[in-house]
Formats: sequence, C-alpha cells, structure tokens
Amino acid sequence: MDELLPLNLTESKLLPGRLVIAGPCSAESPDSLLECSRLLAALGCASALRAGAWKPRTRPGSFEGYGAAALPWLREASASTGLPIGTEVATPEHAKQAAEADVDFLWIGARTAANPFAMQQLAEAIAYHCPDKAILVKNPLNPDIELWIGALQRLYLAGVRRLGAIHRGFSVCDASPYRNAPLWQIPLQLHRRFPKLPLLHDPSHTGGTRSLIAPLSQAALDLGFDGLMIECHPDPEQAMSDGGQQITPAELADMLRRLRVRTGTRPDDAIDGLRLQIDELDNQLLSILARRMNLTDSIGRLKRDADMPALQPARYSRLLSTLISRGETAGLDSRFLHSLLETVHEESIRRQLLILNE
Ligand code: PEP
Ligand code: MN
Repeated sequence: MDELLPLNLTESKLLPGRLVIAGPCSAESPDSLLECSRLLAALGCASALRAGAWKPRTRPGSFEGYGAAALPWLREASASTGLPIGTEVATPEHAKQAAEADVDFLWIGARTAANPFAMQQLAEAIAYHCPDKAILVKNPLNPDIELWIGALQRLYLAGVRRLGAIHRGFSVCDASPYRNAPLWQIPLQLHRRFPKLPLLHDPSHTGGTRSLIAPLSQAALDLGFDGLMIECHPDPEQAMSDGGQQITPAELADMLRRLRVRTGTRPDDAIDGLRLQIDELDNQLLSILARRMNLTDSIGRLKRDADMPALQPARYSRLLSTLISRGETAGLDSRFLHSLLETVHEESIRRQLLILNE
C-alpha cells in the first residue's frame, strides 16, 4: 500500500490538524439527520458527517436502518451543510446504491472487515462503482492485525487508493470497562507498518458509553491518531440504535474544545536520558526472564524424572495472588499484572510440556 491518495477531508475547526467525522449511528429520518448535520456544521465540529443507512445488528428484529431509502437524506444533509457525508456498506449492492446516490465516502464495518469473502466482493464492487471515493476500513471484531491489513489490501489490490483505517476496539472475552477492548498496540502496529495510511479512532464503539468518549479521544490524540469518528445525535436517549454511546453536537463541540492536541517538542536531552535507562532495564528484564526460564527447565527435568504432571494448580493460584498484591503495592496495575504473570506462566508450562515429552 505504497501509493495512497489523500482522503480529501479537511481538518475540524475545533481540533487543529485532525479529522472529526461525526453524526448519528443511523440515519433515522430526513429531519433528524438534517438537524444533527446543521448543528454540527454550525458549531464547526466536523470535517465530515456520518450516518448509517444499513445497520448490522447482532439480533434480528432490531432496527436495521432504512437502507437505500435513507440515501437521499444523506445527500440532502450534505448539500445543506457543505460537509461530505459517509455511510457503511457491507455488500456489493450497498456499494452500488451508495455510489449511485453519490455518498461522498464509505466505511466498512467491523463485522464485514472480519470476513475475507465479503471483503473481496465488496472491494471489487467499490473498485467498479466508485474507485475514487475515500474508503475507511474499521478494524475487524477479532484482535488480528493481519485480518485488518488483509481487508485494506483487498481494496488496494482492486485499485482503491483513497484508503483509511478506523480503530473501534476489539471483541474480547473481558473488555470491561469498554464495549470493545482498545488494544492500542494493534492500531499502532498498523501505523508502523503503513505510516501513510490515515488512522482514525472511534471512541463511541470502543467505549460503548458516553462517559468514555472524551478519555478515549484524548488517548487517541496522545498516541498520534489522525482523527476521530464519533456518534452524535440531537437527542441520544431517543436514538434508534447505540443511544448510550452518542453525544449531542453541543457536547461534541465542548469536548473537542477541551481535548489537547500536543504538538510540542523538547530541545533538551532529558527524554533521551530516561530512554537510555529504560533500555537498560529492559535488557535486565530479558536476562532475568531467561534465568527464570532456565530454572523452569530444571524443574521440568526433575518432574519428568519423577513422572510428575507439569502443573500444580494450587501452587500457581497461591503464587499468583501473592505476586499480584505485591505488584499492586509497588504501584503496578492489576490488569497488567494478571496478563504479564499469566504470559510468563503459560511459557513455563509450554517449556515443561516439551521437556516432559522429550
Ligand atoms: C457504526 O459505525 O455504526 C458501526 C456499526 O460500527 P462497527 O462496525 O465499528 O460496529
Ligand atoms: Mn453505531
């Protein structure tokens, strides 16, 4: 993906140098979409509008959007505000209808991006009907960067060049307090591999609740994201989908004014000095881990000779709770401690199983 073209969206007046795509989860009626879009335009919040015509819902019987019938409302909202508008497409037919209605940009949702067959058909339809439109690809539900890259590549290989990515968190077994776990390392790795690919964050679908929108947005800015996609509704409590994670245009404007876009640099070498110390500690961590695993291997050999099983669960749970409370006393986060200690333990088990079966 070396030859990307710009998305052709302009920065938000309230968030210098960053894109803000805002609008309702779904296009609910011509009037409510128009009202929301006009408020967003008047407040100067948005670079572009969003409104879902086709809504992927977990359970049948939920409101699934007005479909193609809503596309003229999208055009009207764009014409009345001068802002480009986008919608989600999930099938070749959606892409054809959205192109015919001249929707300005499209995004591909997390459920579709996770399905290579659907992505291939969609990529071909988009390349056929609207190869020059900006296409944003949300991360697949699964925390698998290759799946996300694969979805983007299918579009690129089909000839689409105005590409961007939207990070909306991942479906994992315990995402609390989020609706979808941010797993920031995945979008950051995407950025390292494709530095020219614009990367947006969607705090509405990541957080799943209004109060998380501001902190997630600030985190995304601090991590260097190019912009935000935020669900906005004139009366979120009455929204037909995702009401709990939408804010009003006025709340959006207020939040954007409070967010900090940090552009500073430090001329002195204080940061370099600290980084050197961190590098040194990381090296020590690695040699400590290697020494620990050597001890694990010695225990593994003793267990093999005594024909013992690899795992003594009682010892592990005792150890885990002692270590976690010790770590917490030292100021470490308990979620971090759990995942670190579990990873180390898993590796010990893996090594011992190899030794038992040598
Ligand atoms: C949406 O943006 O309304 C949407 C359904 O998003 P996602 O695919 O991220 O769930
Ligand atoms: Mn939504």
